[in-house]
Amino acid sequence: MTKRWTITEIDKFVQNHSESTLLSTEYHGFSQKLQFKCACGSHFEKTFTKFKNNHQRKCEICQPPKPSR
Ligand SMILES: [Zn+2]
Repeated sequence: MTKRWTITEIDKFVQNHSESTLLSTEYHGFSQKLQFKCACGSHFEKTFTKFKNNHQRKCEICQPPKPSR
């Protein structure tokens, strides 16, 4: 069974595992896009699944999306 994350746990994860900051204050599920602030100051949004599992933990300027082959 998949772990259910709370916004507090996500906030901690973001602090511990990235240089970004979580801006969203509510979490409604894995398909929801969360607001983040990158270390460079840019805001970006991403689902927590992508953030956590795909290691997309920065904005698209600091971490450009990988070109698909
Ligand atoms: Zn950035």
